Amino acid sequence: MTTSNAMEAAAMPSSISKSAAKITALVVDDDRTNRIMHQMLLKKLGIDNQVVVNGKEAVDAHSSGQSFDLILMDMDMPVMNGIEATRKLRSMGIRSVIAGVSSHSVEGEVGEFIEAGLDDYQQKPLTTAKLLSILHKLAKQATSLSFC
Ligand SMILES: [Mg+2]
Repeated sequence: MTTSNAMEAAAMPSSISKSAAKITALVVDDDRTNRIMHQMLLKKLGIDNQVVVNGKEAVDAHSSGQSFDLILMDMDMPVMNGIEATRKLRSMGIRSVIAGVSSHSVEGEVGEFIEAGLDDYQQKPLTTAKLLSILHKLAKQATSLSFC
């Protein structure tokens, strides 16, 4: 194990690091830089992920039978925003952990977003610490996963 790997492993709760390979995530964001950043953070924790560029594509992915343990959902997007997409996914019976990730502050205009069916909300920029806090919610909710 290299020094940097050892440091990363030490920073991550062992319960998550052991099972991270089993977790799948979908990044939903219209901004390329955000997509790359979120993918890098997920990859660093060993989480397989896919990206789509708006809410409609996230809904379409689920309509075609795909499913993910975690969805990182932006709020402001063209075609279909995060509020509408979250509402739609919940109405389809999708029970994945959906974490809203946007530039709006929690005190700001995110009430409607949270009420649409979010499990968690984090303000951008997303960090490893924020992602770990989302993953802890996933661990609590996904009782079928081994790390509970
Ligand atoms: Mg956006």
